[in-house]
Amino acid sequence: MLSNSLIELDRAHLVHPVASYRGHEAAGARVLASAKGAIVTDASGHHLVDGFAGLWCVNAGYGHESIVEAAARQMRQLPYATGYFSLASEPAIRLAAALAERAPGDLNHVYFTLGGSDAVDSTVRFIHYYWHARGQPQRDQFITLQQGYHGSSTVGAGLTALPAFHANFGVPLNWQHKIPSHYPYRNPVGSDPEAIIAASLAALQAKIAEVGGPERVAAFYAEPIQGSGGVLVPPDGWMKAMRERCRQYGILFVADEVITGFGRTGPLFACTDDDIVPDLMTVAKGLTSGYVPMGAVLMSDHVYGVIADGAGASAVGHGYTYSAHPVSAAVGLAVLDLYENGLLENGRRAGARLMAGLRALQDHPLVGEVRGRGLLAAIELVTDKEKKTPLPASAEPSRRIFDRAWANGLVIRAFPTGVLGYAPPLCCSEIEIDDIIERTARTLDQTLADPDVR
Ligand code: PMP
Repeated sequence: MLSNSLIELDRAHLVHPVASYRGHEAAGARVLASAKGAIVTDASGHHLVDGFAGLWCVNAGYGHESIVEAAARQMRQLPYATGYFSLASEPAIRLAAALAERAPGDLNHVYFTLGGSDAVDSTVRFIHYYWHARGQPQRDQFITLQQGYHGSSTVGAGLTALPAFHANFGVPLNWQHKIPSHYPYRNPVGSDPEAIIAASLAALQAKIAEVGGPERVAAFYAEPIQGSGGVLVPPDGWMKAMRERCRQYGILFVADEVITGFGRTGPLFACTDDDIVPDLMTVAKGLTSGYVPMGAVLMSDHVYGVIADGAGASAVGHGYTYSAHPVSAAVGLAVLDLYENGLLENGRRAGARLMAGLRALQDHPLVGEVRGRGLLAAIELVTDKEKKTPLPASAEPSRRIFDRAWANGLVIRAFPTGVLGYAPPLCCSEIEIDDIIERTARTLDQTLADPDVR
């Protein structure tokens, strides 16, 4: 069979991201064959609701002809244009302008990358350049949050705070520091929003002092909702309080919206909900809805201006062959058009239904907490609700729960910590959202029956 020979070829040649290589070889690949809307179909014809939009990226859903047409048209007309030598393509210029117009505040300057990791890398390069241009090169320390994820490049993996991205990789680097997450469900100060905000501000202050004072700190990074750390939603006002404190210290504030951007939480950018304007913002994923790779850094007028003036007649030596790729930009414009002509609205309705449906599972014996905003949600599983005891590692949550959900016709993210992550496409119908809930309930019942879950 075609799919058997594919599985053999995969096992022999395709190295998978964030996988146990030997575990993957033993289990074999699940080959996806096609997709439409919110439904993916594997090579054996099994249909599943994609409750995770690929890797929280196919926000528009699969199979939009307008996106395919935009890419094909651009490939025929001009498949590539470098941004070097002051060259540009029309879609890249138009997408940069469209993002600047829609982004909060004065984030008017857009540097396109190939995805989120190199967008984060680019912020680090720009921020170093900024502080050199301001005559403060000693501002070279970077602070991020525990449970944060900021990519898988060497620099980004060091800013990331998930152990698997550090072990055996020689990161974090000595200028990369972490403070505890807000994580309301497991915060030692309890779940009171004011107490959590006060604790985060105190932790930031202590870390700043530890690294030598504000004059040593270049930037602080936060995701509006921590995604890969387990969909951790800060209390209302947390982002604003952290942003303001950074402003007081003259520390640049970077909002990493790689997951939260493009309708995932409701608006085009989650920073809008938080009522903040960061100094820099990173986006990717929903920018092209995963149809082709692209990310971006948005910079404020001030940050861009300092870098531009600092460089003067010299080149700012940062650039990729595929920066501002015209095909990706054309896709970005087509996707934006879909968001603004019904998808954001549908996503908000679907998000309210998803959250209500998941919250209705709160009484299940394994459900410790349901959390989320819009179409970005999680269920944290525990074996004892009172003590908040995590699922034992012996229950292999990320493999067994993923497998059960898959057999039930549902794709979710099952984190090793026993957290189930949801990020379905914005195009989901009411029936598809209800299917996600019903299949989750079935998966939870099957998990409860697993003798290793005690
Ligand atoms: N930042 C955040 C917040 C992310 O969630 C991710 C990817 N999940 C990245 C950066 C890295 O993006 P990419 O995988 O496109 O390199």
